[in-house]
Amino acid sequence: MKKHNFYAGPSIMPQYTIEKTAEAIKDLDGTGLSVMEISHRSKEFDGIIKQAQQLFKELLNIPDGYHVLFLGGGASTQFLMVPYNLFSKKAAYLNTGNWSQKAIKEGKFFGDVDVVASSEDKNFTYIPRNYQVPGDADYFHITTNNTIYGTELKEDLDVNVPLVADMSSDILSRPVDVSKYGIIYGGAQKNLAPAGVTFVIVKEDILGRVNRDIPTMMDYQTHIKKESLFNTPPVVPIYSALQTLKWIKEQGGVEGMHEINQEKADMLYEEIERNRLFQPNIKNEADRSIMNVTFVMKQEYKDMEKEFLDFATDKGMVGIKGHRSVGGYRASLYNALPRESVKALIDVMQEFEKKKA
Ligand SMILES: *Cc1c(COP(=O)(O)O)cnc(C)c1O
Repeated sequence: MKKHNFYAGPSIMPQYTIEKTAEAIKDLDGTGLSVMEISHRSKEFDGIIKQAQQLFKELLNIPDGYHVLFLGGGASTQFLMVPYNLFSKKAAYLNTGNWSQKAIKEGKFFGDVDVVASSEDKNFTYIPRNYQVPGDADYFHITTNNTIYGTELKEDLDVNVPLVADMSSDILSRPVDVSKYGIIYGGAQKNLAPAGVTFVIVKEDILGRVNRDIPTMMDYQTHIKKESLFNTPPVVPIYSALQTLKWIKEQGGVEGMHEINQEKADMLYEEIERNRLFQPNIKNEADRSIMNVTFVMKQEYKDMEKEFLDFATDKGMVGIKGHRSVGGYRASLYNALPRESVKALIDVMQEFEKKKA
């Protein structure tokens, strides 16, 4: 049976990426070597990583003065690397969920953290607005897409301190104005590549302002100087990332992706609103994520929650169980998820509604 992959991460990859990676694992472009066996200092890999950086810059319109790094350690290591490199006296954070809180926790190792606003009072079901970012903060940290709760901060904020964004789960899903950011980072395993590689887009001139000594691997300058080759980078995931970037370009770039993503999200939210059994987790439409759609059974049908999950699973839906801190369901509609999968989920929701009529 056809499976429809709604996993939140690691998650669905473009078929193109899977096939190209599978071929290169057997034989990289006729070299007689597997991509798993080549030196990260070989000319083959040099071409791969340079192309990936170049395409990343092209697709996101990254201005001069920024570097694209491919590192290990996941977004979780960036929670620590950001303050190591930027935190002198005080940092500001926006608390929009579990991942924000993890970033805040690491920031606190370095000093005074000012949480300027939080949506914790309503279990992170909205994006806070109307707050002040103190002008003396070393940086302001945001999480643009809250993978667990299904909210998304879609505006590129104007702040007068370096803006740092965790974009793990919405990178390349929509256009962003990179010039508004000091650092954009994320784990690749949601929208880009298999787990193992972390992308960091960093504006060079925000670095070098802290007084502390930074351990070598934690220092962005190390990786800028060595062009992500200070130590062995995750070669195979970087190869896959390049394939995904090529695929995104084929889809019309991030503008094209955004159009498709918006259409998929609109389709699903519309059904959630229409279907008499379900309701959306996020009420304010402007705050709804186009990547992770969270919904629940209406109060009067709560006892059917497990039954629908089993029903949908039987029909080929994979990974729609909500995160334990939200409950209900979560359908992740990442770039690679085709429209047909969203249609299949909608069909299953309608079938279940009829069955219960
Ligand atoms: C998945 C996720 C992370 C964690 O990334 P790792 O690469 O596992 O460290 C961090 N932030 C957000 C927003 C995520 O969705």
